Amino acid sequence: MPENLCIFDSHSHYTDEAFDADRDALFASFPEKGVRRCMVCATDLPSAQACLDLADAYPSLLITAVGVHPETPDAPEGYLDRLREFTKHPSVRAIGEIGLDYHYEDCDPVQQKVILREQLALAKELHLPVILHCRDAMGDMLEILREFAPLEGVMHCFSGSAESAQEVLKLGLYIGFTGVITFKNAKKPLAAMRSVPVDRLLLETDCPYMAPVPYRGTRCDSTMLNETAAVMAREKGVTTEEICRITAENAAKLFHCEV
Ligand SMILES: [Zn+2]
Repeated sequence: MPENLCIFDSHSHYTDEAFDADRDALFASFPEKGVRRCMVCATDLPSAQACLDLADAYPSLLITAVGVHPETPDAPEGYLDRLREFTKHPSVRAIGEIGLDYHYEDCDPVQQKVILREQLALAKELHLPVILHCRDAMGDMLEILREFAPLEGVMHCFSGSAESAQEVLKLGLYIGFTGVITFKNAKKPLAAMRSVPVDRLLLETDCPYMAPVPYRGTRCDSTMLNETAAVMAREKGVTTEEICRITAENAAKLFHCEV
């Protein structure tokens, strides 16, 4: 079955050292597993450079997003100019991942909000979509996004309620779901996913994290997405092949690239 699939992984971190030992062999296995394209996201300036270097090595497989993640301790002086420079690279299709993460006690919401607003403004200036990360910060996130609406982009690894999913959709965004929806206790993300129309759904790994069942707890990669897609397909009453094709077309439309 996998060779019939057309999988677009809309969120990955293939520059992570977890892939250093076997990245080439893994990518070589993608065609037979139906993995056609992957969006590789940066989290800071060094990883942004690494994303571009990796995309140079695999130009037909990888597209990239450059940005400073909220968990990055601080955005260095002049970081917006560096990002603007990076976006001249042909692989760059989005600003990301950016957002708010209030999970850890020592986080600095004030600083995070400044950096998020600056990068949203940059994305608008450059007419690029955004890849948004949000953890324990949905209220502030929606408030800031409304200032910038309408927005092109995706709220990735969605873990909120069906109600907040509807608010995100109203802003014009896509919503990405990871292997979390395959977990036994995933009632909330599953309910949220059910409430999202298929033309606004994206499939993603967030690898090396969030491996779907039955791979839960192992290093995740895009070849496991058939499992996540199977759960999406079951809930939406379509086939796994169809949900892969639809989400791939959604991602291609959002990131202005071919499937
Ligand atoms: Zn990520």
